[in-house]
Amino acid sequence: MHKASYWESEGAALRCTLCPHYCLIQPGRTGRCRVRLNEDGELYTQNYAEVTAIALDPIEKKPLYHFFPGQMILSVGTWGCNLQCRFCQNWEIAHGDPAFVATSAEKLAELAEQQGPLNLGVAYTYSEPIVWFEYVCDAATAVKRRGLKNVLVTNGFINPEPLAELLPLMDAMNIDLKAFSQGFYQDICGGGLEAVKKTIATAAGSCHVEVTTLIVPGLNDGDEEIAQLASWLAGVDPAIPLHLSRYFPRYRMELPATPTESLFHARSVAQRYLHNVYVGNVG
Ligand code: SF4
Repeated sequence: MHKASYWESEGAALRCTLCPHYCLIQPGRTGRCRVRLNEDGELYTQNYAEVTAIALDPIEKKPLYHFFPGQMILSVGTWGCNLQCRFCQNWEIAHGDPAFVATSAEKLAELAEQQGPLNLGVAYTYSEPIVWFEYVCDAATAVKRRGLKNVLVTNGFINPEPLAELLPLMDAMNIDLKAFSQGFYQDICGGGLEAVKKTIATAAGSCHVEVTTLIVPGLNDGDEEIAQLASWLAGVDPAIPLHLSRYFPRYRMELPATPTESLFHARSVAQRYLHNVYVGNVG
């Protein structure tokens, strides 16, 4: 266990201020992410340095298409997530209890360096790096010191203060924009749209940003919603690449996979506003 940052005491309980859930955590209990634990009046993070997945992936797999195309990136993930998307495509590690290998921040940076010149650096991905905050900051500092790059693949549901601490360490981010309705965020993901919009707008002023929307049939694929999403993103920067990704039934959602025609149709709607729109997960 490692001491957590971003919390304050409220009597015997602790208020976590890392993400907009602001969990009030009673003694011996964890917040919604399952990661942050109130132990004897201090907040601890339970997944520090616990790496549950590691692979050398093409950068395009993050997906990042406009950031050093053709290169590889050492990709790592842990367990835990601050959202509860019913369609979670990585639920085994995000919401399960996967085996892990303890890997210090320095060791991770060293591993990244050992991959050779085709490796850009480290991507914090697979589950949700926001709830790995303290380790990501330490590892990203060690990676940067070696002249390598850091990439964050995230749901963007983080408060402005920790985001400001993270951004100077990041070279690129892929941020999920899961839908363009508060109802979808609330009912399907247990989150909030405005906080994610704020993260995208802030991050775009600091590092390379691409955005991913998983298109779920009948839930977030209406023309009007896609147009609103793309038009808002164009207001931030019309050159931000948007990835429209195909959903497959996973975790707690049984709707059939998104028809490929719906993805290409959504792309044609988004292209009215954005310069770079891609369809993903279609083989
Ligand atoms: S990071 Fe975890 S404990 Fe903290 S507010 Fe978010 S869900 Fe709650």
